[in-house]
Amino acid sequence: RIVSADADGPEEEVIEAALRPKKLDDFIGQERVREQLSLVLHSALRRGRTPDHVLLSGGPGLGKTTLAMIIAAELGRPLRISSGPAIERAGDLAAVLSTLSEGEVLFLDEIHRMARPAEEMLYMAMEDFRVDVVVGKGPGATAIPLDIAPFTLVGATTRAGMLPGPLRDRFGFVAHMDFYEPAELEVIVQRSARLLDVEISDAGAAEVAGRSRGTPRIANRLLRRVRDYAEVRADGAVDLELARAALKLYEVDERGLDRLDRAVLASLMRKFGGGPVGLSTLAVSVGEEPETVEVVAEPFLVRQGLLARTPRGRVATPAAWAHLGLTPPPSAPM
Ligand code: ADP
Repeated sequence: RIVSADADGPEEEVIEAALRPKKLDDFIGQERVREQLSLVLHSALRRGRTPDHVLLSGGPGLGKTTLAMIIAAELGRPLRISSGPAIERAGDLAAVLSTLSEGEVLFLDEIHRMARPAEEMLYMAMEDFRVDVVVGKGPGATAIPLDIAPFTLVGATTRAGMLPGPLRDRFGFVAHMDFYEPAELEVIVQRSARLLDVEISDAGAAEVAGRSRGTPRIANRLLRRVRDYAEVRADGAVDLELARAALKLYEVDERGLDRLDRAVLASLMRKFGGGPVGLSTLAVSVGEEPETVEVVAEPFLVRQGLLARTPRGRVATPAAWAHLGLTPPPSAPM
């Protein structure tokens, strides 16, 4: 799905990696986070200490991995990358922690999905740079204390609310990453176009940015698709008209809604008079699983103020009627 904020496949990931800013100064937007982080890092560098652990919270594609890489680069330290789902047992975490070098930055993506026993081991590691490795089972089990090198943990989560309090409290710095403003995304699109050697007009970049759902990863992906179109159907240069034609072909509209988003809204309005209607009924009406509608389409529609979740079901807002150019029946909920 072209407007999904989820990570790209392996081939696209290579291009994405090339587009990642490498220094804090090149990281666009998130002004407050950048400034705070800069202080945390530079004061640690001054004191010759490892900085506090950092928690980055925010939706997919907003730059958490990029920031973790930047943190390591700014500190001049190596970066180790792992993720919550990859750590199924405490032993998996012990294996990572015991091989960290002094000052290394450990990035744990999706930290909220780590197994509970590993989480408890992590508490001690974060606080005391020590872990207890349990050897054996049952009454004969013994805990062997193991010192580990001081390190900086950078945790990333899309669900800060799902992190247990004791874990969250052990981060010295928590950064909330917001969706990006259109002007910031425009700068990101222009920067990526430069790196990809794509000629793009200001209006073309603004058009791509405006349809990117506030998310740099989507902006970069739309830019690549627009570039494909420009190379095959034109001379490779992207202006406003070309960007519009390309995005129309990919069925991404002016607000960044794709075919599924619009199908959900259209069905809600045309078949159910704007609602309220239950999630599963709505999903059946567009030929999708309820989970797909709930996880893939709804969050963005709700954030855009196009759809409301009420106790009696899903409701199309006046903005949704206007966006699809439909007229609500007199009895439509407002
Ligand atoms: P996350 O880890 O939050 O899912 P990533 O760090 O992988 O997101 O970012 C996705 C892509 O978006 C990266 O490849 C990077 O090129 C781009 N990106 C993210 N944030 C920025 C930013 N602030 N400035 C420029 N590019 C960015």
